[in-house]
Amino acid sequence: MRKAPSSSATIKAVIMRKKAVSDAPKASTLKTQRAKRDREAASPRPRKAPTVEIVTSAKLSEIPWLLHGFSTRQGGASKEYGGGQLNLGYTAEDDPRNVARNRQRFLRKLKARDEAGAPWPLVLLNQVHSAAIHRVYGARGPEWARLRKNRVLESAGDGLITNTAGVLLGVRIADCFPVILADRKRKAVGVFHAGWRGTAQRIVEKGVGEMRRQFGCQPENLVAAIGPGIGACCYEIGEEVENEFDSQFAYSKELFEDVFDSWSLKTKYPMLFLNQRAPGHGEPAMSRHLDLVKANWCQLLDAGVAAENIQSVDQCTACRTDLFFSYRKEQVTGRMLAVVGIR
Ligand SMILES: [Zn+2]
Repeated sequence: MRKAPSSSATIKAVIMRKKAVSDAPKASTLKTQRAKRDREAASPRPRKAPTVEIVTSAKLSEIPWLLHGFSTRQGGASKEYGGGQLNLGYTAEDDPRNVARNRQRFLRKLKARDEAGAPWPLVLLNQVHSAAIHRVYGARGPEWARLRKNRVLESAGDGLITNTAGVLLGVRIADCFPVILADRKRKAVGVFHAGWRGTAQRIVEKGVGEMRRQFGCQPENLVAAIGPGIGACCYEIGEEVENEFDSQFAYSKELFEDVFDSWSLKTKYPMLFLNQRAPGHGEPAMSRHLDLVKANWCQLLDAGVAAENIQSVDQCTACRTDLFFSYRKEQVTGRMLAVVGIR
């Protein structure tokens, strides 16, 4: 009788497969080995949560007694706005306890503490897009007791100046530009909140004026830093904004530029836009954009600050929503702080 070759081949194959299975390590052994490998791979570089990052100005950092910083959104306790966010404003969506934690983290990272380790009082404003500037007097001032007790004092306005050490002045931002001023000789500082309204009302120019009046600052000793805010690349504005600037500044035309509606598309694919402009098809849609960095730069120059003493950190909040909160881009978002103080 002829043996069926197929069945013999099948048996052989089964035996081979069984052998292969028995040679392989047991599932439990594999699991242990993998766990060991994973542990080893993990131990030299443990996974770290993002830490608090602070943007600083190189020019301001040269002043030894000055403490300053622009917060970013990383390394916080807020669960809103994407989670792990350093929201420093008491916004409607966020848990106030997490905002308080975030402020502590930010102050710790800044090292804004007295010799006893207590954090400096943080002075913030109830910001109203004005040109109102407040002076913080420190121990001589009527607000000092409240400042020491509550740690935070808020009054209406958009600019703060002081020559008192051990106090942190701050403005809340999410697209509006923070501008910090420091007098190297007189040891005086200021911080200003400059959105389009504050800029149109010349808050920074007035800020230099107030520092001259209150502390006898000479503009040539002032160093200025313009922090992160919405850049000309992303800041589309309406006619009323342009009209307001036209009525206020002789140089207003220099502050505006026409940008293609799909600005980023245009830079990425210029050929697409060349082809679009076929004869008889009209011009591509344009929009008006405002350059608030340039506007505040002009005000600083007008007030007598030397160009070499002005620095912009050159960061657009709307371009970099991974790093910054942008109200224009995100609508519902957190707030950052720009702070300055004297050691
Ligand atoms: Zn931008």
